[in-house]
Amino acid sequence: QAVINRIAAGEIIQRPANALKELIENSLDAGSTQIQILIKEGGLKLLQIQDNGHGIHKEDMGIVCERFTTSKLKKFEDLSQIATYGFRGEALASISHIAHVTITTKTKDAQCAFRASYSDGKLAPPRPGASADPKPCAGNDGTQITAEDLFYNVPTRRRALKSASDEYNRILDVVSRYAVHNSTVSFTCRKQGSSTADVQTSSTSNITDTIRQIYGSSVASELLHVEKEFPPLDFKMNASFSNANYHVKRTTFLLFINHRLVESTNIKRAIENVYTSLLPKGSYPFVYLSLEISPRNVDVNVHPTKREVHFLNEEKIVDSIASTLQEQLEGSNF
Ligand code: ADP
Ligand code: MG
Repeated sequence: QAVINRIAAGEIIQRPANALKELIENSLDAGSTQIQILIKEGGLKLLQIQDNGHGIHKEDMGIVCERFTTSKLKKFEDLSQIATYGFRGEALASISHIAHVTITTKTKDAQCAFRASYSDGKLAPPRPGASADPKPCAGNDGTQITAEDLFYNVPTRRRALKSASDEYNRILDVVSRYAVHNSTVSFTCRKQGSSTADVQTSSTSNITDTIRQIYGSSVASELLHVEKEFPPLDFKMNASFSNANYHVKRTTFLLFINHRLVESTNIKRAIENVYTSLLPKGSYPFVYLSLEISPRNVDVNVHPTKREVHFLNEEKIVDSIASTLQEQLEGSNF
């Protein structure tokens, strides 16, 4: 059974950046306004995330890494959210099957923090012979989760990965995207041993400032913004995108659907087509797009590892997005 769980976990979490994405989402779900990430060897040796969210109650610490344990399905209508948020309660469980996990957490009402270690979905003694029970310790409000030696027991998965620096770049990319989408949250990400952060955002009320902090002022100074609702199609869009003066050699496309980082080849292609007619040859856009689509209309069959999504009325929605951007681009003076 342990081997089966481990294989299943290795399918859900394919690389350090996937694990980190889940941990960031948990921190955001906990209402955090500050998220600090520390990485060693591209996340294979160490992935650590510290947040200032609502924390985990001591009584729940024994079960948080069990499969299907979630505190996020309180209301019946939340069940429809499974569609967009994938398989509930599987992330921490999966990570604990393929890494050594330690959680230190403090809720506001608790006198002190508690720390516990996990292995294969269950509490585990931090050292042979020690007790597995959560131990009181010092700590701030919020949660720190450490995953060490990722894939230590899945050598095939580990061998399939690229270099530590490649994995680290994927991590920085995920952090950057979540930081843009959550501009009121401050993010830092750095390598262990380095005093300078490779991603650092302050909490701003303004997405342009966050984009400037991450992607630089050349992108931020060329942005157009649009927010629009499409009641007949039951969706909302919010976009910040470069105007036709922007010259880079590669498309940067950040897509969130219902606050989850996803990919859609159809949307990306339609947007690229809009720009092709407006940008000089060899120049590419920066586009951040956030969609809110009724969870009922998002493909329920998407597997957590498959970031590519599909939704009802896809063609019409894609057309609406593309023509909205086109209007804005054509209407702006550059
Ligand atoms: P899910 O997010 O789908 O509920 P996870 O396996 O990602 O499942 O997390 C399991 C549970 O652990 C969450 O429902 C939440 O109660 C708790 N949890 C995980 N991370 C945090 C965090 N950073 N702060 C507070 N609670 C957390
Ligand atoms: Mg989660």
